[in-house]
Amino acid sequence: MDAELNTQIRASTFHPKTLEMFKEWGVVDEIIQHGYKVDQLQYWERAPRRLIADFDYGCISDDTPYPYRLQCPQHIATRVLKPAVEATATGKVHMGHRLIDFTDHGTHVTARFETASGIVEREGSYIVGADGAHSAVRKHLNIGFKGKTYEDRFLLIGSDLKTEDLLPGAAQVCYIFDPKEWVIILNLPDIVRVVFRMTDDENEATAMQEGNLRRRISNFFGEVPPYIIKTTQLYRVHQRVTDTFRVGRALLVGDSAHNNNPSGGMGMNSGIHDAANLTEKFVRIWNGESDSILDDYSNERRQYAVESVQLYTDQQYNNMVMSAEEERERRNKSLSDAANDPAKARAYLLRASMLEERI
Ligand SMILES: Cc1cc2nc3c(=O)[nH]c(=O)nc-3n(C[C@H](O)[C@H](O)[C@H](O)COP(=O)(O)OP(=O)(O)OC[C@H]3O[C@@H](n4cnc5c(N)ncnc54)[C@H](O)[C@@H]3O)c2cc1C
Repeated sequence: MDAELNTQIRASTFHPKTLEMFKEWGVVDEIIQHGYKVDQLQYWERAPRRLIADFDYGCISDDTPYPYRLQCPQHIATRVLKPAVEATATGKVHMGHRLIDFTDHGTHVTARFETASGIVEREGSYIVGADGAHSAVRKHLNIGFKGKTYEDRFLLIGSDLKTEDLLPGAAQVCYIFDPKEWVIILNLPDIVRVVFRMTDDENEATAMQEGNLRRRISNFFGEVPPYIIKTTQLYRVHQRVTDTFRVGRALLVGDSAHNNNPSGGMGMNSGIHDAANLTEKFVRIWNGESDSILDDYSNERRQYAVESVQLYTDQQYNNMVMSAEEERERRNKSLSDAANDPAKARAYLLRASMLEERI
């Protein structure tokens, strides 16, 4: 829809399964070049500044050629992916086209787009809605998008702070539990993103004032050397999934079909996995199979969104806000036991890497 690729960082975690797909698509080396390979995943308790669990991705080095999570900004990755799509025999990217509506004729689809030079109509065998959480394709299909909106908002402050100096022992990615204000630290090349819980009763305009952003940083890290705030984002988080990912010749992928809590970094990754699954089905249809296999796409990916991504990310979120003393102790023990036992750590990291089928 936009005339240019988005310039916001948005997602920043690429899991091993996605990197394996990028390898097949010939883009992995270039994307890796733009990111940090993070080979530790840490969980901390905020108040006592205590490291609870430190998972070492070395545990899955026999399972994947990419035993780490790559921290690379989404808008950098899209700048590698777009030319790769355009370099294929059939790949064309038309920027500046906003879908208005479409008609499924049973044998093909026609769609109308608004462009700078007026309305254009295009025809294709199928339409794939990869048009985000407010998907025009999904709305046109009039299908349910049930789920919940979390009460908390996520407040993200991007800066040039050196978090490893401020929280000794901290890895480049840390989830820091606290019943009042959990924190997530995500280091990327050129920027560190510190994400804070913002409760529903906090006023947005007040919270976003620079002095208050800096106070939040100091409340957590203590005294900090001078630093530059590079970006801020405040967003609401939803957990929703559509009733189906397919209606006739229309299909949904990514955020148009499912939204989830970003803790765990699975939203963008699972959208890419949808696209890979669907492309494989399209190739089989092209080679003569019935297009009923598109129902398999819908069932497989919907099931994964509900039974895997949503369960995992919701659990991650619950861990971050857990308040009852007993529950917190149980959580800490379970994570610490898992991190310290190579077999359990392997299973945990395969799950966190969206490679659970290899457990
Ligand atoms: C701050 C933040 C941090 C995140 N961190 C992570 C993370 O670490 N890991 C992770 O996996 N996920 C993360 N996510 C989620 C991730 O960004 C999304 O899951 C991902 O961008 C979804 O990709 P998508 O292509 O489905 O939708 P989008 O990225 O929303 O893209 C949709 C595209 O469709 C276009 N469009 C919309 N309407 C129309 C229309 N009518 N016609 C034509 N085009 C249209 C839009 O312009 C846009 O280009 C994060 C999200 C946010 C906001």
